[in-house]
Amino acid sequence: MVTVLKTVGGDQKRPKERVRHPEKAHRADTPVLRKPDWIRVKAPGSPVYSETKKIVRENGLVTVCEEAGCPNIGECWTEKHATMMIMGGTCTRACAFCNVSTGLPDALDSQEPENVANAVEKLGLRHVVITSVDRDDLDDGGAEHFAQTIRAIRKRTPETTIEILTPDFLRKEGALEVVVEARPDVFNHNLETVPRLYLSIRPGARYFHSIRLLQRVKELDPTIFTKSGIMVGLGEAREELMQVMDDMRSADIDFLTVGQYLQPTRKHAAVDRFVTPEEFQGYETTARSKGFLMVSATPLTRSSYHADADFAALRAAREAQLSKS
Ligand code: SF4
Repeated sequence: MVTVLKTVGGDQKRPKERVRHPEKAHRADTPVLRKPDWIRVKAPGSPVYSETKKIVRENGLVTVCEEAGCPNIGECWTEKHATMMIMGGTCTRACAFCNVSTGLPDALDSQEPENVANAVEKLGLRHVVITSVDRDDLDDGGAEHFAQTIRAIRKRTPETTIEILTPDFLRKEGALEVVVEARPDVFNHNLETVPRLYLSIRPGARYFHSIRLLQRVKELDPTIFTKSGIMVGLGEAREELMQVMDDMRSADIDFLTVGQYLQPTRKHAAVDRFVTPEEFQGYETTARSKGFLMVSATPLTRSSYHADADFAALRAAREAQLSKS
């Protein structure tokens, strides 16, 4: 477990050392539940893992795999699947579940789109996932930087399919249109939790704005796949989760991910319970019956986990659906 007072920095991207979550430093500790057996993962360390790490470092990139302390990093990086996090490693929001460091971010790096494209080429990715921190400090929330990154990858490796996992662009008029115009293959934005828990878990966001964002992507360009994810084990009731699935379908969202919330530090929201693999299987069955083209619901599911194979399945599901109609 990462401690809240662990500092970030001392590297090329963030040369100054600072506390990772200053806004949480004086909060009372939350209890920590012992992880069940089905959550345990192998420690990273394969030669391909080291190679992926080298490419990430050489291009001065930040990854959500490392910043979020993702449990799947050993497996994903051994497949060379790293999820790049653009626009720096400091987020302007302070969600209660997230391990990405918070504070005032640095200026954008104009070389970053090219560096990301370079890393995608070196890693030989067929499918890449690009995410970012929230950049409420920028007039467009970073929309143009997302668009530039998509265009740089398209130019360098046109055969690579591109999935973006964006912030909500709340109060950033016209930002969404800029990103959609760049035509990613998959537009992902996570709802994260049920609306009742937004105030405590995702206080800077608005549930219906996030739903509407995804609905608007489909209205602007129906060829783009839309995707969203939710964490369970935060205290949500089953009925609330069912309602979120219905809201997502009303917004025409294609792909749902459901994963277990894991507490990054004692200063973050506590885990309410560990949902069993059988319950996850039940969520998947229900979600498929509600009409999602694709569903991934397992304890270790994360937005970008197995995104490469899932994209192929998503495309095949759409083709199968179109051939029936
Ligand atoms: S699941 Fe996503 S964030 Fe986690 S290690 Fe894999 S690619 Fe990175």
